[in-house]
Amino acid sequence: MKVVEARFVTSAADARGIPADGVPHIALVGRSNVGKSTLINALSGSRIARTSAAPGKTRLANLYRLTVDGGAGGPGRWSVHLVDLPGYGYARGGAQSVAELREIAQAYFGSADRGRHRIAGVLHLVDARHPALDADADAARWLDTLDVEHALVATKLDKLSRGERVKNLKELERKLGKAALPVSAARGEGLDDLWTLIARLSRQ
Ligand code: GDP
Repeated sequence: MKVVEARFVTSAADARGIPADGVPHIALVGRSNVGKSTLINALSGSRIARTSAAPGKTRLANLYRLTVDGGAGGPGRWSVHLVDLPGYGYARGGAQSVAELREIAQAYFGSADRGRHRIAGVLHLVDARHPALDADADAARWLDTLDVEHALVATKLDKLSRGERVKNLKELERKLGKAALPVSAARGEGLDDLWTLIARLSRQ
């Protein structure tokens, strides 16, 4: 599997700014600084996403379009939009975070209900160093209420020792009710598995 093209498409201020061109969406949600931009860059193999931008800057969604050759689902070229939704959790945490996420993402998920774009899946990013945050648990519960498949992705794995990895991934599963796919955008660990997941969601 090979990324043949990766580019920034648009920064949408509202649902009308999201292109309805039939290319499936994989939405990325997570706390501010969880590593969304870094992961998008790692997946695309180029610096198309800006990292460590000031909190609060993101509008509704930043869209990146990746065209890939092969992968899960068979040979041939296919495209996917990675959709970077604003990070939650920099206000206070807990219920406040979910309110933030809901408010921001409602327009995005709501416009999919109206058929403007197809959300093939959601990647819920959580920081592998902080497995037990209420803000993430609340967000996971909120994602459960949406009619869209969502997978947990634990980021920044390289920042943990082997022992901490096992312990934190177990703790994450206990707290959030399902196993996370562990990745390190910095080292490339787990990215093949993540691509397999993205291909499965996008090509079904
Ligand atoms: P975003 O706000 O979710 O888009 O987060 P960024 O992608 O801007 O990342 C926030 C910070 O975490 C930056 O300083 C990144 O360099 C760092 N970071 C992101 N992913 C990784 C990773 O896999 N490993 C390490 N060590 N640092 C990471």
